[in-house]
Amino acid sequence: MPETTLSAALDKAGHAVDNDPSRIVRPARAGANVSMFESRRVPAVIRPTSPHQVPGIVRAFGDDEAPPLHAVSTGRNWGLGSREPTRHDTVRIELDGLDRIRDLDTRHGWAVIEPGVTQRHLAAELSDTPRMLNVTASSGHSSVLGNALDRGVGLRRQRTDDLVGLEVVLPDGEQIRVGWWPAEDTATAPNPYGLGPSLLHLFTQSDYGIVTAGVIRLLPRPEIQRVLRLTFDRDRLSAAVDELRRWHAQGLVHGVLKIYDTTSSTTYGTSAQGGYLVHVPLGGTGEVVAALTDTACRLADASGLFTSVARSDQEPPADDDIVSLVVQHGYAGDVAHHEAMLRSAVGQAAPGVDDHGGGWIFFLPLVPYTGRDVTAALRLLDQVHAETGIRPGATVNALDPDVIDLVVSLRFARTADETARAHQALDLLYELFTEAGYLPYRLDVDHGEWTDRLTDPGALALTRRIRDVIDPHRVMAHGRYT
Ligand SMILES: Cc1cc2nc3c(=O)[nH]c(=O)nc-3n(C[C@H](O)[C@H](O)[C@H](O)COP(=O)(O)OP(=O)(O)OC[C@H]3O[C@@H](n4cnc5c(N)ncnc54)[C@H](O)[C@@H]3O)c2cc1C
Repeated sequence: MPETTLSAALDKAGHAVDNDPSRIVRPARAGANVSMFESRRVPAVIRPTSPHQVPGIVRAFGDDEAPPLHAVSTGRNWGLGSREPTRHDTVRIELDGLDRIRDLDTRHGWAVIEPGVTQRHLAAELSDTPRMLNVTASSGHSSVLGNALDRGVGLRRQRTDDLVGLEVVLPDGEQIRVGWWPAEDTATAPNPYGLGPSLLHLFTQSDYGIVTAGVIRLLPRPEIQRVLRLTFDRDRLSAAVDELRRWHAQGLVHGVLKIYDTTSSTTYGTSAQGGYLVHVPLGGTGEVVAALTDTACRLADASGLFTSVARSDQEPPADDDIVSLVVQHGYAGDVAHHEAMLRSAVGQAAPGVDDHGGGWIFFLPLVPYTGRDVTAALRLLDQVHAETGIRPGATVNALDPDVIDLVVSLRFARTADETARAHQALDLLYELFTEAGYLPYRLDVDHGEWTDRLTDPGALALTRRIRDVIDPHRVMAHGRYT
């Protein structure tokens, strides 16, 4: 990339950010990422402060020779590449300075937010209201929109279910809105699909544009919330998963049911004796929750599968049971304990994770919700352990009665040897899980080519034709998924 082209583009971008020199940074060195993926060369970072500045920045990079642009919201995509673009010589736009909640309607249940609005910010606005945010288990300082754009998972449901509208700057600088937006003076019901072909998800896991705002649905807050914590032994895994699936299918579960194995419990901050820990969220009116609790406890007892059952109203989590504290508060849209869990996982608070945190990688496949499949998937983790010496942690997130989001985490010391073994383990996870039919639904920055392996060729070709039309000059950097 010729230096003069970069300088010319940055000059124009400088006008777009009101000639404020602090908004354009030329990094002297490549930044680190907590997963120890190769650090890409990023010749400049642009940090707008207003959505109105973004079209001008994008137009500044419209020249065929100019480097491409990669947008992040808060850039805390830890485990999948953090802020890294997929390729070298990419200019990053960091949108954490766009941090306004533009509009909030707790009666009808939506918020119009910018990419820099964090979980913590929005959750705080909603405390003591009849609505709550579907929070993830990541830091309160991570972006609500950034996570939804990567199709992340909250404690209540997948974040794609929360997303109903987007404001996007296209590669030619035009700013458009897709999906549903609140009307000025009448209350309309959210319809993310609109009429005709739905455009909303053209812009999730996508490199077709830069998102400057979005509409997020806010869940009704149950009058009473309760969590049942159940434990079971390792040899009961298959039967316990099938039993829990039945509860799920019959309406006993009100959120993402979570099962932590011993490694992930310990990793996230709760000492575990072996076996598994289940969190079952219940919610509704007092009578409904009483009936659900009674039914679940009787079913647990009758199954003979569980070694203990604790109700959060009678036995709240102990002060040092970080996992249960995060999960219980998280179901209620509260991130009060999230930073403690982040510290347990990577040893650092949010700002220090990428430079100083302990090594951390995610592998994220979807698995059918059956005892047989979950057992088979966890056996693959034993194989990875045996072959690489890295013991993966697993959290089973039951999204609905048919689908498990299996969160596989690799924790490692950032030495040359352990880093190499962790990356070998990651490669092996991709191969073994794909062979078994347990396909990843999110990719890390070093495995973007798996999109080609895992996508129907006709669909992939259409994706690329659409990109050619929307972005003929390749203003947007090649993403992880196209
Ligand atoms: C301990 C721990 C727990 C975690 N728990 C969870 C969890 O429960 N659920 C979960 O999903 N993840 C989890 N994560 C992973 C990760 O931290 C979150 O997904 C986090 O929300 C992603 O970072 P971000 O919000 O800053 O998004 P960003 O890093 O800003 O964005 C993610 C990606 O989306 C795209 N993007 C972002 N903004 C824009 C934009 N404005 N325009 C166009 N494209 C954009 C880019 O491709 C970007 O790389 C966890 C991580 C750790 C370490």
